[in-house]
Amino acid sequence: MQQDDCDVVVLPEDHVPGPSRYMKLWFSDGNVVLRTKEHMMLVHRSLLSVHSRVLRDMFTMPQPPGEELRNGHPVIDMPDESNHLIHMLTSIYNPYLRAHLYDFDFLVALLRISTKYEVTDLRQTAVDRLQLGLPTTLQAFDDPTHAKAREEAMDNAIQLVNLVRETNCPELLPCAFYYCTQLPTTTVLEGDGVHSLSWPDVAACLKGRELLFDAQRNDTHRFMFAANGEAWCSHCDYEVEVYGPHPSPPVNLASTQTSRPICLSYVPTDELWDSLGGCDLCIAEHKSLLKYGREGVWKKLPSMFGLGTWEELVKTQYALLDEPYYEKNTWHRRA
Ligand SMILES: [Zn+2]
Repeated sequence: MQQDDCDVVVLPEDHVPGPSRYMKLWFSDGNVVLRTKEHMMLVHRSLLSVHSRVLRDMFTMPQPPGEELRNGHPVIDMPDESNHLIHMLTSIYNPYLRAHLYDFDFLVALLRISTKYEVTDLRQTAVDRLQLGLPTTLQAFDDPTHAKAREEAMDNAIQLVNLVRETNCPELLPCAFYYCTQLPTTTVLEGDGVHSLSWPDVAACLKGRELLFDAQRNDTHRFMFAANGEAWCSHCDYEVEVYGPHPSPPVNLASTQTSRPICLSYVPTDELWDSLGGCDLCIAEHKSLLKYGREGVWKKLPSMFGLGTWEELVKTQYALLDEPYYEKNTWHRRA
């Protein structure tokens, strides 16, 4: 009996399956197919053109003769990673999903691809979300609501410096640099194993760290770092006899926090103030120095890293975007 081998398809060993339809983004009334290595999406030119200038220009480019068609629609090969493009398209089709931008890697991918395709509203959503971890005001920096976002940003400080540079979000740089000053010098110099700073950014970080140390010694935390006696009055000397020698910050502070700048991060509790043993006037003065000192440091934070002023950073960030949205909202956001 002759073997019927018509139904048997032998694939070569190096066979790679072609891109498959991504059904959640395969609309029967779509009119253009976007194709990555893994997926194809049948989407709407008009909708995507409204959101993305780059896609709009891409769609209006004359197609070469003999252009590939699928189901009668032109096929455009996209160079992007499939899941990044899917993230972007899904967020355009389902704006409510943007409220759930809490996965860090997702956010990073979305900021990159929305910047690349100039999907300005989506990019702004990603920037706003990232800004929770990289605040641009001291008030936001102190807001306990977003402590987790700041912690996450601090864990990814080097990656974030590179990301916000690459995606032109300079307003987020000062805080990202501040987080880098909290890293060991070796990490600043050599990277965290995955990401590393450019040499100009290493220099900016180290220079900024020195200025932050100066500020905490002279402005914000004099009560901890001034030489013995300098930060206290003669009346305090009387109290020293009662309470013991000072200034003597608790050992845990002195040993664990002096190797990195704490001028923005460390605000003592009432118990710590009480434990210092200073007179009421001196303690009030040091609380005031800390409050106004931190505000001063925040104001100077960009210039400490050679970035100019906060206002200049905002202008740079939005200079390339000419939509009325940005002109209207930029200064409002800073207020
Ligand atoms: Zn005193």
